[in-house]
Amino acid sequence: METGGNSLPSVGTDGTKRKVCYFYDTEVGNYYYGQGHPMKPHRIRMTHSLLSHCGLLHHMQVLKPLPARERDLCRFHADDYIAFLRSITPETQQDQIRALKRFNVGEDCPVFDGLYSFCQTYAGGSVGGAIKLNHGHDIAINWAGGLHHAKKCEASGFCYVNDIVLAILELLKIHERVLYVDIDIHHGDGVEEAFYTTDRVMTVSFHKFGDYFPGTGDIHDVGHEKGKYYSLNIPLDDGIDDESYQSLFKPIVGKVMEVFRPGAVVLQCGADSLSGDRLGCFNLSIRGHAECVRFMRSFNVPLLLLGGGGYTIRNVARCWCYETGVALGVEIDDKMPQHEYYEYFGPDYTLHVAPSNMENKNTRQQLDEIRAKLLDNLSKLQHAPSVQFQERPPDTEFPEPDEDLGDPDARHDPNSDMEMDDPKQLDELSRIQNIKIKRENIENELKDQEHYKVAADHAKAVEPMAEEILSSKALEIGPMAIDEPSSIKAEQDNPNKLSTVPVMMCPKS
Ligand SMILES: [Zn+2]
Repeated sequence: METGGNSLPSVGTDGTKRKVCYFYDTEVGNYYYGQGHPMKPHRIRMTHSLLSHCGLLHHMQVLKPLPARERDLCRFHADDYIAFLRSITPETQQDQIRALKRFNVGEDCPVFDGLYSFCQTYAGGSVGGAIKLNHGHDIAINWAGGLHHAKKCEASGFCYVNDIVLAILELLKIHERVLYVDIDIHHGDGVEEAFYTTDRVMTVSFHKFGDYFPGTGDIHDVGHEKGKYYSLNIPLDDGIDDESYQSLFKPIVGKVMEVFRPGAVVLQCGADSLSGDRLGCFNLSIRGHAECVRFMRSFNVPLLLLGGGGYTIRNVARCWCYETGVALGVEIDDKMPQHEYYEYFGPDYTLHVAPSNMENKNTRQQLDEIRAKLLDNLSKLQHAPSVQFQERPPDTEFPEPDEDLGDPDARHDPNSDMEMDDPKQLDELSRIQNIKIKRENIENELKDQEHYKVAADHAKAVEPMAEEILSSKALEIGPMAIDEPSSIKAEQDNPNKLSTVPVMMCPKS
């Protein structure tokens, strides 16, 4: 298979085992968006049950995520937005009409019982996975994560907090560059927007484009200022099949790996790009979808696998179970094991399902043009941009959990396996976390620049959307190349920003 000419390991030749950890909370399947809502957290429990009965749990470290705390969520999100998510309940929402509207909570993103705990759980898994990768695991998995539409101050497309942005911020503590790849059928807009002006995170999104939620992700949207050419968008049409998809995925992502050379990769494995999805319109098989996981794994770079969309839930469970097997290097039997959700998988009771005979509207010519355009953009990149990166900021101290480390007070125990053995580090950490940098809008941003100027006295500028990285760097470390503070306005500069955002709930047709 073509890989865009990179010399890195090719697919299928690498049988080496990887050190894999997997995050799962037994409560996650109980959260309920409401009657008729297509997003069903129950699919995470179905996936887990299938993993268990396929015998895969024995091959990896199984961890219960520690819930992300308010201050953890506020590393990306606005304080007032997180305070709102924390306080809103189905009973009190009638009194909060204006706030609901302001934060886009209501229809696509309803208020339901336990909403805030749900956010804490799925974000805790993704940040916990990032911490595990920072400590030597090869692959971390959080199928409850991958909620890529959430914005700094706004819910969107069934997503409330953006666990992906939070996980990437954690990875940036020790990696100069992080690659984000998104194979959900919807554009990964929240993640792209967060990192639109930096060259330390490259975002690559493959998605249905044209009269489809969220409406962004044009091929011509490539990033801004320092981030120019560090956002890649691959717009696709209905009915794309495995072969067409891989004819773009491998050459483009292969080239990205070659020129960007990330220290870690985050792969959002949204399963609404599978054939037969309730909201989707692609025609990928589970093997075709999982080929993306296999390909990313082959580069031997720390890999965070996250969930995302996926609305035909029996296929979501099939897909993420199979992809867990791919991560582990274990091929799973096609015959469905007997388990509590066995009846969902009739009439065939198999892991794999055939794609449909729907028309593939992506012509060879279109695909060739898209590939050529993106490879051309990549050729304009400097090889492996770098920041001077001298000392490692402290971990976010919450998730180094496992099933028997459920006590939240254990977080600060230096004898826990938090690797927080230096008491000075704890002092430093609390100092860092007391620093509040708010950027409600561009006006506040100007004030922030004053703050940044002080903090970045001997540096050049500020890393967008990475307050804590900046703060910890500036506090702890002497020189570090940081970007211009004036570049932090992706939202305002982003030409994609639509005045009216289409809703995701209703399928296109
Ligand atoms: Zn989606």
